[in-house]
Amino acid sequence: MKVNVLGTEYEIISDATASEYPILESHADGFCDFTTKKIVIAEMKPDDYSMKDLKSYEKKVVRHELVHAFLYESGLDVNSEWARNEEIVDWIALQFPKMNKAFEEMKVMCD
Ligand SMILES: [Zn+2]
Repeated sequence: MKVNVLGTEYEIISDATASEYPILESHADGFCDFTTKKIVIAEMKPDDYSMKDLKSYEKKVVRHELVHAFLYESGLDVNSEWARNEEIVDWIALQFPKMNKAFEEMKVMCD
């Protein structure tokens, strides 16, 4: 699946394994590779230790990695402390659906 991030096309690769992308072993559930314009999401299989709604969790991981891509493509990289701050990136990924709902309810989204 491809997505436009501020004019740059990113490919989202789902169900990736650590044997295909060894970086997944250290980055857990996904990562954003700015050099290849790929967002790689780990294969998520339910087991006794996993979250019960893995589809919802996977969507959140994709949002998180997309936020990284948007920040990078807007010119914020290693020299920006806040844009590389995982807490901020995760906050946006978690709150954006709620903010989007409120904006749509208030009809203040851009046309
Ligand atoms: Zn992150």
